[in-house]
Amino acid sequence: MLDNCIFCKIAAKQIPSRTIYEDDDLIAFHDINPAAPVHLLIVPKRHIPTLSDCTQDDAALLGKMMLLAPQLAREQGCDYQPDPSGNVGSGGYKTQFNTGPDGGQEVYHLHLHVIGGPKPWRGQR
Ligand code: AMP
Ligand code: ZN
Repeated sequence: MLDNCIFCKIAAKQIPSRTIYEDDDLIAFHDINPAAPVHLLIVPKRHIPTLSDCTQDDAALLGKMMLLAPQLAREQGCDYQPDPSGNVGSGGYKTQFNTGPDGGQEVYHLHLHVIGGPKPWRGQR
């Protein structure tokens, strides 16, 4: 845990969050300033500053983060619904890692945004 890291503090329950999922490796909670009707953050409990700090040793952790996104989107009612006749379906969400200042990163503890709901791309991110 890193001192003065807000997501380390959330993972350690030192500050509150609207947590919707937790296991030994990850915690997921609602973004405090949502850009869309559903805006979740999937966060490793271990402090990793950015995606660019990840190594091969983090491949399983990153895969776990990505695979949690559709599960939580489903639970939050914004999963992609395929069309049974093969046309484009409905619903869906964005998954986004912001990396570094030019990537728009503000919190330097790795996190995956899951942004869903009607036209989430018209939000601010
Ligand atoms: P990024 O710009 O990718 O670093 O995103 C950081 C995100 O963390 C922003 O969308 C913030 O709204 C969100 N955030 C900051 N502090 C908190 C907090 N205490 N609880 C939940 N979300 C937060
Ligand atoms: Zn941290």
